[in-house]
Amino acid sequence: MSEGLLFAIGLTVLGLLVGSFLNVVIARVPAKQSIATPASSCPKCGQLLRWRDNIPLLSWCLLRGRCRQCAEPISVRYPLIEAANALLWLGLAWWAMGISTRISLLPLLLALASAGLALAAIDLQHHRLPDAIVLPLYPLTVLGLALSQLITSQGYWIQALIGALIWGVTIGGLWLVTAGGGMGLGDAKLAPVLGAVTAWLGIAESIIGLFAAFLIGAIVGVVLIVSGRSQRRARLAFGPFLLGGAMCAVFFGTPLWELYAGAMGL
Ligand SMILES: [Zn+2]
Repeated sequence: MSEGLLFAIGLTVLGLLVGSFLNVVIARVPAKQSIATPASSCPKCGQLLRWRDNIPLLSWCLLRGRCRQCAEPISVRYPLIEAANALLWLGLAWWAMGISTRISLLPLLLALASAGLALAAIDLQHHRLPDAIVLPLYPLTVLGLALSQLITSQGYWIQALIGALIWGVTIGGLWLVTAGGGMGLGDAKLAPVLGAVTAWLGIAESIIGLFAAFLIGAIVGVVLIVSGRSQRRARLAFGPFLLGGAMCAVFFGTPLWELYAGAMGL
């Protein structure tokens, strides 16, 4: 078996396991419960999950989405989060392949992708981004960027600071202006982290990411209103759009910027 394939399989398995842990985070952090204890159980009948009922993706499929004991439906969110985490990890590894600057940033991006997935799911459900997840991202990001510098001997701290300011001032400003009607304070706390990491790749990439966040938000908002699934005044969770925008910056920022710069003759 080739090394690359072995690496991809290992990353997928680890990604699924971390995704399974994210499900615990998504269910318990908003309720301020411990993520360590107790062990997972069926919310209806209390049956403790045995290891074979707790295998990411596989168990949900084998049980056909129902509790073994009481047949209560198990949300499809569980396997979806697990699969999404593994796919994000594979995507990021593929994106980084063979490019040393990107590889040096990979540990941080994998961690942020997983934290972001949990945050997006919590924001969609509860309309908030818990400090317990958002605030640790600050030291984590500084450590991850420092690791990147250590590996490549190249630091982009000024860029990162500018990116953090652009995202922070934009989202924080909107939060102030709309008095919490549009953005939440959680969005304003999350934004500088995403700005810093995307700007480590380039200021242009970072700005494209912020632009993408608003574009995705606008498109989803219009679709929801037109399809009658949302009132004009209903508040959309903006966290998933910020995180989606940051992902766009990572995956498409550089080619989009090169396309634009080429067309403008820059
Ligand atoms: Zn049950």
